[in-house]
Amino acid sequence: MAPAADTRLARAAALVGGARRLVVLTGAGISTESGIPDFRSPGGIWTRYDPRQLTFDRFCASAETRRLYWEMGNDLFPALRDAHPNTGHRVLAALERRGGLLRIVTQNVDGLHQKAGSSPGVMIEIHGTALQVGCLACGARQDRGPVQARFAAGEQDPRCACGGLLKPATISFGQAMPERETAQAAADAAASDVFLVIGSSLEVYPAAGLPRVAVDNGAALVIVNREPTPYDADADLVLRGSAGETLGAIAAQLGLSLSDA
Ligand code: NAD
Repeated sequence: MAPAADTRLARAAALVGGARRLVVLTGAGISTESGIPDFRSPGGIWTRYDPRQLTFDRFCASAETRRLYWEMGNDLFPALRDAHPNTGHRVLAALERRGGLLRIVTQNVDGLHQKAGSSPGVMIEIHGTALQVGCLACGARQDRGPVQARFAAGEQDPRCACGGLLKPATISFGQAMPERETAQAAADAAASDVFLVIGSSLEVYPAAGLPRVAVDNGAALVIVNREPTPYDADADLVLRGSAGETLGAIAAQLGLSLSDA
């Protein structure tokens, strides 16, 4: 019989609090309580566009696809830019301050971990960030807001000063994963003693492969998610519930104080 919820929470707090090299993998589910829908929420903004139609190859080849991309940005970007971190993000920032947290690998592109106070050095944004734009020719990065504003003012295919194509700095379907970040995330998973998954369906690879790397190298696996994941059977502990509420309860057990971010 599964242990009672209180017992599971106490075990999770003991594992997370006792970790010396905690690695956390977060997915869209940690940000739904900040008002950013995941792929599965009915009626969400993401259900109006299918990112799979907006592949990297199509973006490079077609001005019409790029126009659609920036148009989607007009819808999505203000909500991402203005979103506030929730308890889940704040608990992870507090765990870093407390010590023992090696890395947060996030599949999210919303920058909410950093807004909550997680330091850039602890973060790996494995799918990039939607808050910036990069030039596909010279690699220069810039804030996304001014580029979205150029599009909104009528510039249909905004370009870098060097003439290259500008693209939101997220990893699109069909686009190569960032090599250094992907390798670092795998090395961190292998080095972890506790691997904590929060709000991820664990269906999008290569991030979804990280729990396997961690478990194969001896880490304890803890999963916090509303729905079942393909890794539940491999986990030492599965906490089925809201990310914010569950992490808040773990923080309370550990006596962590959360910042107001
Ligand atoms: P996903 O949509 O595949 O899965 C999210 C999981 O979180 C689901 O299993 C869902 O049941 C669970 N969930 C939702 N709200 C929750 C909550 N409050 N508490 C606990 N669990 C909750 O997301 P994924 O695994 O991150 O992969 C999808 C891809 O979508 C990623 O590549 C990511 O880059 C991208 N994405 C990012 C954002 C963002 O940046 N916030 C939002 C949507 C999608």
